[in-house]
Amino acid sequence: MQYETMHIGFDDTDSPRRGCTTYIAALLVEKLSKMGVQFLDYPNLVRLNPNVPWKTRGNGALCLRITCPMEMDVEVKEAVVSEVEQNSDLEWEGTDPGIVFLTRKKVPKEIREFASKAITGIVTKKKALSLIKRFEAEAVGFKKGRGIIGGLSAIGETLENDHTYELIAYRTPENRGTPRKIDAESVKKMDKETFPETFNNVDAETGRILITPRGPDPILYGVRGETPRAVKKAFKIIKPLEPIERWVIFRTNHGTDAHLKPVNSIKDVKPFHPVIVRGTVASNPKTIPGSHVIFTITDRTATIDCAAYEPTGKLRKIAKKLIRGDHVEVCGGVREPADHPLTINLEKLHIIRLAPRFSYQNPRCPKCGRRMESMGRNKGFRCRKCDFKDPNAKKVAVEEKRELKPGWYVTEPRSQRHLTKPLIRYGKEKKGRVKVELIDCWHSP
Ligand code: ATP
Repeated sequence: MQYETMHIGFDDTDSPRRGCTTYIAALLVEKLSKMGVQFLDYPNLVRLNPNVPWKTRGNGALCLRITCPMEMDVEVKEAVVSEVEQNSDLEWEGTDPGIVFLTRKKVPKEIREFASKAITGIVTKKKALSLIKRFEAEAVGFKKGRGIIGGLSAIGETLENDHTYELIAYRTPENRGTPRKIDAESVKKMDKETFPETFNNVDAETGRILITPRGPDPILYGVRGETPRAVKKAFKIIKPLEPIERWVIFRTNHGTDAHLKPVNSIKDVKPFHPVIVRGTVASNPKTIPGSHVIFTITDRTATIDCAAYEPTGKLRKIAKKLIRGDHVEVCGGVREPADHPLTINLEKLHIIRLAPRFSYQNPRCPKCGRRMESMGRNKGFRCRKCDFKDPNAKKVAVEEKRELKPGWYVTEPRSQRHLTKPLIRYGKEKKGRVKVELIDCWHSP
């Protein structure tokens, strides 16, 4: 029997009122496995540029990488199309599902490059369709079919370098849309026993449980970690207080900073692109209503505002302490609010060099050492104790201790994007081709 390798990418199936593309992946894992299809990898959950204006929530796209007998080709494709069709919110105006099938072993470099652009910037459906044609892939689009972009990108992001895992547990249909029931103490216990192999379970500043989302989607919780075994261990510790319909372990680019692309100068910062850019603080930060902190950075080419919003927590407090002249690297997404200049929404701040801060004090008396007093503007200083006078004396600059230290500062876990690399992951990045060990990675009813 001859076998073929197929990469199945899909996206844009849900709406703010229902659904989740990861759930369709979970249904397909069950359906395809029962058909006898072999999975070559964990289902891949690929987060694309978090600053695209069309996203529903987290701009996630999915890819299943499988092998099956060639004669099953049509059966597999039909199963995928029907599952996507049945589980997409097609009546919702902005939901435009897309599916891409690429039947070849290696994902071509051009499709990998397309994915990298979709993660860091903006790509077009036209370009996606031209690559699909060139590499003899097949695409199915519903309505505007915008999801084809995400589908192809999920295929192209093969997660060969840094990646993490997420175990997602799904709710039964009757509970969806109701408050999630989970034993908070068991989540804290899980965090204690598995951190840092799992991360972003609990927000340290507020104690809030972060693994449960808030919307009407079918997810009960998602645990993120470095390895499949770590998230599975976490799963065994967490006590759900409602039934779990199914769970799946995804391999993902969560927590890898894949979206942040360094640009050489501030003039290269573009709307809807997440960036890393260096500059010098141009004026002392301002706090605006809502406790958001705004500061401006500049280089030889341009000036741009940076905003540390209230939920960024400690990051906002650090940003507030910057002063004019500090040399920093800022990381974040760029929005273009209609009536404002470009603003970088701060996710991370790297303080490279602190500018000295001076306060000006009256000089000390050269005779008795007491601090002198002014004799009037530009009239010098005199000593009250020994009556020494110096008409030429001037205030002296004293360098003040700064309350900041150079280094990296990251927004609080509760306001981190899916893609934001938490500080705890620094130095743990997986490099080069990492062998992926497939463990028992899903369960269905
Ligand atoms: P879901 O839970 O379905 O994944 P979401 O928040 O990920 O929801 P989508 O509903 O998938 O958002 O909407 C994002 C849309 O934007 C998709 O149609 C996708 O193809 C498209 N898209 C994603 N990234 C880019 C990009 N970088 N450039 C252009 N289009 C993009």
